[in-house]
Amino acid sequence: MSLTKPIFSLLSYLLIALAMTACGGSSDTQSSSINTGSTDTDTDTDTSTACDAPVTELSSAFLEFVAAPNVTVVLSEDGCTVSLESAGKPDHTSSYWDAANASGLYVEPEDAELFNQQRSPGDIEDYINDYDLTVPVAPELAATPSATPLGAIGIAISGAPIFNDSEGNGDVSFGVIQGFDRNGAHTGPETYHYHIEPKAISYDDDGLVGIMADGFFIYGRRDYETGEYPSDLDESNGHIGLTLYSESEEGEYHYHISNEQYLNGEYYLIFPGNFQGTPSDIN
Ligand SMILES: [Zn+2]
Ligand SMILES: [Zn+2]
Repeated sequence: MSLTKPIFSLLSYLLIALAMTACGGSSDTQSSSINTGSTDTDTDTDTSTACDAPVTELSSAFLEFVAAPNVTVVLSEDGCTVSLESAGKPDHTSSYWDAANASGLYVEPEDAELFNQQRSPGDIEDYINDYDLTVPVAPELAATPSATPLGAIGIAISGAPIFNDSEGNGDVSFGVIQGFDRNGAHTGPETYHYHIEPKAISYDDDGLVGIMADGFFIYGRRDYETGEYPSDLDESNGHIGLTLYSESEEGEYHYHISNEQYLNGEYYLIFPGNFQGTPSDIN
């Protein structure tokens, strides 16, 4: 019985997307939508495809992104690339929402005095963003890994960006961590963003966390197949294996949140390593 569940969710999302299209409204701003690209199923094969294996349907992993408000996912006409667009604001509670709680998502910090000392300036509402990321539907490992830049290096399923293990010119420090909300995130310089395991998305589990700029998905600390912490990870906490959304028996390359305790605390950096694929710009 449980096997049918993902199919029903997929269908319901597609129906929602279709319904929104049918209403004639443009699918921007407040609504989330998934666009499965050309519905032309003719066999008029265009020989000049931009990739080896174009798809007609996106991985159902993308449904987790469009479940968040203000996230849009579109498959390209040629079936080779997928574009995500996000307003950068999370769909979960945070002490970084305005304390007047217009969003309904403000929560008190665990330690208000400490948080107010260490927090970053600005509320989530103060940042106006639009993050675009276009990646291949079938990303490949690069010949050589590449370092992550400052700023957005991935987009979480909540719609907010993922940052690396740096804060400005240095590593994320204990002082900086004390100013994080319960989701390992804070504001500034341009957006609310995560550095550490975002508990509202993944807490010591195998759930989908987001997509990195090289097109590979990132999952929680545990392995989908074994329920244990994976032991065969590369320097970027990646490996080839099964995930909740694998479409083949051998699985595919994906990353995990680092399972190494950062600064000897219960803090787990989301992505301290290098990209193992070829990153696209997030802008
Ligand atoms: Zn930061
Ligand atoms: Zn894995």
